[in-house]
Amino acid sequence: MFPAEVDYVRADDVPAAREHLASADDAALLAGGHGLLPAMKAGEAAPDLLVDVSDVDALAGRAVDADGARVGAVTTHAELLDDDGLAEHVPVLPATAEHLADRQIRNRGTVGGNLAEAAPAADLPAAVLAAGGTVHVDGPDSERAVAAPDFFAGDGDTVLGAGDVVTAVEVPAHGAAAYRKRTHPASGWATVGVAVAADLGGEGDDATGEDVPTVEDPGVAVAGVTDRQQRLGAVEAALAGERATPATLSAAAERSSDSLDGPLRGDHHVSGEHRRDVLPTVVERALGAAFGVPEVAR
Ligand SMILES: Cc1cc2nc3c(=O)[nH]c(=O)nc-3n(C[C@H](O)[C@H](O)[C@H](O)COP(=O)(O)OP(=O)(O)OC[C@H]3O[C@@H](n4cnc5c(N)ncnc54)[C@H](O)[C@@H]3O)c2cc1C
Repeated sequence: MFPAEVDYVRADDVPAAREHLASADDAALLAGGHGLLPAMKAGEAAPDLLVDVSDVDALAGRAVDADGARVGAVTTHAELLDDDGLAEHVPVLPATAEHLADRQIRNRGTVGGNLAEAAPAADLPAAVLAAGGTVHVDGPDSERAVAAPDFFAGDGDTVLGAGDVVTAVEVPAHGAAAYRKRTHPASGWATVGVAVAADLGGEGDDATGEDVPTVEDPGVAVAGVTDRQQRLGAVEAALAGERATPATLSAAAERSSDSLDGPLRGDHHVSGEHRRDVLPTVVERALGAAFGVPEVAR
């Protein structure tokens, strides 16, 4: 299907982008175009003006140090994979980007677009939730920082209002991370995606006398199973302060559904019940990968 005719303008900076957004009845920001353009072709979106922000300098770039990273909204998924600082200090971002779509989409799709689109099966929202990230928004009235759990409103919705521009995401540093995903057979999106971010504490003997680190400040978040990405509080509670042994990780994974909230998502390929049923397995694999426990990483 061909999209309806639409005007196009390239913004030079964020204030100009907001002015353009205010100039039309139904203007939309355009970043990588891999969410909006397919929606327009499918007739699901029909903006009258596209405001291209992909070249806005203030939305580009990354700042990384030992405390964490600030990632500009137009950073592409591919750029997350190609940054040694991110790999060292906020590994959940590259670990997740590696599983996101294919190379062609990773080269164009952006962090800001992925978060703003908030598709229930999108991978990056789970990563940002797991790591306790914050989304920065420049809006008509103010600039604000929104904690990730408050940013996503479910079913593809966010707290973004008319004229709001996501400028960056801030992600605190963590020592261990992984992303594991069961992909949808037709689309490659997550039927179940699980992000883990945590710190590792001092080592101590487990029952067998081996040195095993403790799990500190764990964040475990899921994509694809319900109408929104969410943290799995029961899994996190079972991990916090515990040694990362195979038995602890498996027992924590068994609690995956305990705090799962919201309606299950299913389709004729993969039912919601099946997604929920395989969730503990994907959680267990993600935990094993994050904490270097091959027995459960499989
Ligand atoms: C075939 C296919 C497979 C995909 N598979 C996956 C997958 O497995 N996992 C996954 O996570 N994603 C997947 N995606 C999504 C893709 O990775 C992009 O992240 C996503 O399309 C949005 O990013 P974008 O930069 O392309 O945004 P755009 O398409 O440009 O915009 C998407 C929406 O966000 C808004 N927007 C964009 N930038 C901003 C901003 N800075 N502030 C506020 N609003 C903004 C736009 O107005 C629009 O409503 C897939 C896409 C396709 C086409």
